[in-house]
Amino acid sequence: MEINQLTIHQTHDLLKNRQISSTELTRAYLERIRQVEPDVHALVTITDELALKQAERADELLAAGDASLLTGIPMVIKDNMCTQGITTTCSSRMLENFVPPYNATVVEKLYDCGVVVVGKANMDEFAMGSSTENSALFTTSNPWDLSRVPGGSSGGSAASVSAGECVYSLGSDTGGSIRQPAGFCSVTGLKPTYGRVSRYGLVAFASSLDQIGPITRDVTDCALVLNAIAGHDRRDSTSVPQPVPDYTQCLNGDLTGMKIGIPKEYFVEGMQGEVAKATRNAIDQIEKLGASIDWEVSLPHTRYALAAYYIIAPSEASANLARYDGVKYGFSYQDTTSMWEAMEKTRQYGFGPEVKRRIMLGTYALSAGYYDAWYLKAQKVRTIIRREFDEAFEKYDALVTPTSPTVPFKIGEKVDDPFQMYLSDVCTLPINIAGLPAISIPAGFANGLPIGMQIIAKPFAEETILKTAHAFQQVTEWHKRKPDI
Ligand code: GLN
Repeated sequence: MEINQLTIHQTHDLLKNRQISSTELTRAYLERIRQVEPDVHALVTITDELALKQAERADELLAAGDASLLTGIPMVIKDNMCTQGITTTCSSRMLENFVPPYNATVVEKLYDCGVVVVGKANMDEFAMGSSTENSALFTTSNPWDLSRVPGGSSGGSAASVSAGECVYSLGSDTGGSIRQPAGFCSVTGLKPTYGRVSRYGLVAFASSLDQIGPITRDVTDCALVLNAIAGHDRRDSTSVPQPVPDYTQCLNGDLTGMKIGIPKEYFVEGMQGEVAKATRNAIDQIEKLGASIDWEVSLPHTRYALAAYYIIAPSEASANLARYDGVKYGFSYQDTTSMWEAMEKTRQYGFGPEVKRRIMLGTYALSAGYYDAWYLKAQKVRTIIRREFDEAFEKYDALVTPTSPTVPFKIGEKVDDPFQMYLSDVCTLPINIAGLPAISIPAGFANGLPIGMQIIAKPFAEETILKTAHAFQQVTEWHKRKPDI
């Protein structure tokens, strides 16, 4: 197999046995980036200089026998996580030239493991979107079919893994932004429990929903990266002080005695037949591994999740994005004599149409007189949805659903219809509303286009998810297929 399609654990073995150095490996990945980037456009910044410096340091660690499993392995970071000295654009004109003076906690943790950063990934502006078409910089293509979207908002993160530009990447997920692109690009993407991974240094979109997680080539790699990034951080008060287990310990293939529920509401109207079929076939496989399946689970309030999400997320976004006023940092409109005009013009030119739409939605939902009718009501719905999941998890260890109602769609197909675009996350956003962990893993193809399956568990039960997903990957080959690029 090509070097640029190996997993973390495979690559680590090569490094450890001195079959390749991190410098050689990094050069191979930078070469691959040069080859495919003109077609895929996954990266906003290619950090070759930094990568080669980190690789040199990694080779020293490897020689000294001081290496972790991630040491010397090339990876990509979504461009909404602060990287000291490297632009962090959020794919927005507003932050196009923003160079953070500090690292996000996840970045710091990975640096401590001796990783090699080869680039920063394109995304929908401020993580608002499902296709990367909302990037103010450029659109990323799906490596499986360049005329289609890679999903979003972490489209660049997922496409870069799929196209062999890095071994793994980090994404962020507010309503599906790790899982949906992972499904669209046929890679493995985990959204951890809210509070499992520090959000310090992640540019905020909707703070009660945002969570950082890994996008990888298989489940073992997901466990390895989660081991490195999870844990309490005193700089993020929503990170939970709960011990971090070794997530690789649960990967033992045996699902005997496990109870899995299939909520029927997730096979939504309008779902493509091939997607539903592939998911059902995949569930049959899980059953063969020893789990008992209940096909008749009902979570009736799921149907209100989309509406609640599109009140709560824009409300929080409207507050979080108030900081971009042209004074503190980022783009600043200068050609004016009045402070108010400067602020107005800064936001007019700095933000793209989807970001403005969310700010308007959120400001409206939070304004006096409308707050009770919209925001407060959405929060009540949120509580009901969470309780419904709590009840389900009294009976089931995990729930399984499709990741997305469709296979990757054509670039341009939904961009003028925000509602159609919002529907792309109908299966993933209830999970954020409830703060749960969930993974998307490759589960099939329709006409050569990837289909993802989602596995959900109760808060802090990442091990249940990883165990189930890993067992599935032991007996299936979907995750081993690579795009022909
Ligand atoms: N597509 C959803 C949105 O636009 C989710 C995005 C995300 O998870 N960051 O809000």
